[in-house]
Amino acid sequence: MTAYPNMTREERGAEYTRVRQEFELWKAKGLKLNMARGKPGKQQLDLVSDIFSLMQDPQDYVSDGIDVRNYGELSGLPAAKRLFAEILGCRPWQVFVGGNASLQLMYDTISKGYTHGLLHSPRPWCREENIKWLCPAPGYDRHFKVTESFGFELITIPMTDEGPDMDAVEEAVKDSAVKGIWCVPKYSNPDGIIYSDKVIRRMAALKPAAPDFTIMWDNAYCIHEFEGDYVKFPDILALCEQAGNPDMVFEFASTSKVTLPGGGISCFACSEANMAYMEKLLSIQVISFDKVNQQRHVLYLKDKAHTLELMKKHAAIMGPKFRCVVDALDREIAPLEIASWQRPKGGYFVSLNAMPGTAKRTLALCKEAGVTMTDAGATFPYGKDPQDSNIRIAPSLPPVEELEQAIAVLCTCLKLSALEALGV
Ligand code: PMP
Repeated sequence: MTAYPNMTREERGAEYTRVRQEFELWKAKGLKLNMARGKPGKQQLDLVSDIFSLMQDPQDYVSDGIDVRNYGELSGLPAAKRLFAEILGCRPWQVFVGGNASLQLMYDTISKGYTHGLLHSPRPWCREENIKWLCPAPGYDRHFKVTESFGFELITIPMTDEGPDMDAVEEAVKDSAVKGIWCVPKYSNPDGIIYSDKVIRRMAALKPAAPDFTIMWDNAYCIHEFEGDYVKFPDILALCEQAGNPDMVFEFASTSKVTLPGGGISCFACSEANMAYMEKLLSIQVISFDKVNQQRHVLYLKDKAHTLELMKKHAAIMGPKFRCVVDALDREIAPLEIASWQRPKGGYFVSLNAMPGTAKRTLALCKEAGVTMTDAGATFPYGKDPQDSNIRIAPSLPPVEELEQAIAVLCTCLKLSALEALGV
């Protein structure tokens, strides 16, 4: 097959007629498929259903002498701290174990900056004239929305193959109105990139003008390999400490994609001084989080090695789904030279860059044919992709049979929108 940009107008016209017919056939099937959000599939949820058979005996409700059924232990069960610390490679006392969602802890951290200020804030952020926040893009839409909702000005930082463009970050932090940055350092959402050691070291060594500049280090996919073995990852807290910036980072993680999304446990990890400051504020807000669920997770996941065994079972379900998507793109789209994509080895997404100016149109066509995808632009601040190019594919939810159809529809729509843009 000749690449579309190299075709003559006549050849493109003929191809358009063929692809249009293909599209009409898909439409006639009345499909209802969804590749919009990174939700685990039913098979993955079934995998962990034995978590509910634990805790039958009264003794199962006691952890390190603590009755988990009662109030207390604001910062979480020591055993849950040990579990997260081992997974993240930090120290247990640096971990605060929260409720069912890390996004809530992230929101709350920003919110505390806004209402009270963070540890080194000269004043609460609500009293600042103007706050700017760095958003490596493409990135996670919910991150961007949190900072947008507080009225911060979102600054797009380009992503490179090894993480955020650190030249751009180092330049941006010279502005004292820049108070922080969002990062998904391992299997970034949506590119599936692992930040390189060099990027991580430069991040930890930043010398921002704002004394309360905060790295929001969302390690949501820290153990989420679906191809190959677990990839070791540096401890950002130790690196920040070594660089003289112990209080500059909050790290986040959860078991949303280990056990149950919305029914798991979450944490933040930070320096001793940040922990003391946050605990003081949090103690007014909540008596303690759900320690019963923390205990359930400690009993179920046990330790890092045992958790990684479970992640291998997830990988056996996720791997074929990702291969199905990437293989279809390699086969159907690569020869046409109308898009590029990454081949991630972990995380929950495939990030595809369609021909500039065609992402919105492609996804509108998908919708017409019954395939729901993440909105075009969602991976950029304010939901606006300046190139109208990035498409986030989330292959985890549909079973492989449905996924095969969904990705075939997407390929047809990519072809159709590219042909329209090139002129037929
Ligand atoms: N961070 C990232 C990067 C995510 O992709 C997601 C879920 N899609 C979350 C956080 C949400 O995590 P939680 O369920 O712990 O709020």
